[in-house]
Amino acid sequence: MKRAVYPGSFDPVTYGHLDIIERAASMAGHLIIGVLNNYSKTPLFSVEERVNMIKSLTKDMPNVEVKAFGGLLVDFVRANQADAVIRGLRAVTDFEYELQIAQTNRVIAPEVDTVFLATNLKYSYLSSSIVKEIAAYGGEISAFVPPEIREHVNRKMEDRTKIERNKGEECS
Ligand code: ADP
Repeated sequence: MKRAVYPGSFDPVTYGHLDIIERAASMAGHLIIGVLNNYSKTPLFSVEERVNMIKSLTKDMPNVEVKAFGGLLVDFVRANQADAVIRGLRAVTDFEYELQIAQTNRVIAPEVDTVFLATNLKYSYLSSSIVKEIAAYGGEISAFVPPEIREHVNRKMEDRTKIERNKGEECS
């Protein structure tokens, strides 16, 4: 793999993602982390915030670059002259969907291959959605995300609570 793209929502980035990033960066000459700007989902963090958080965490990794993208993954891969897509596989439940996407992408762009990295057992249960759910109820998320991400998530949740409270006051 000369140039690989690791795409995802990373809302927020977790220790599971970081494990894949470190392993992929040691396998690829250059790794581009593609942060998805998906208009059909309402993320907790804007795409700029997610890009900046990952940039900060990977600042000492010289062959890692972080970029936002929208639209088709294969178009982003081609625009970056990459030859591979990295995906993490947590459980069998990920597999069927990931295989379908990988095969579809190969039909659209035969020059691009998908490389699956099996999750580190330590993080096989971990997802961004779980982190958000725990944080939303005031739970402790330091086992799942680095300290600076924990701060960002907790601050975002506090802001949300304030907004909800203000809305409630306006309605009453
Ligand atoms: P998506 O919205 O595409 O699922 P995510 O940001 O959740 O994006 O995940 C991006 C990639 O990281 C996917 O390949 C996903 O399987 C992988 N991933 C997510 N969490 C983990 C984890 N805990 N361990 C390994 N890979 C993971």
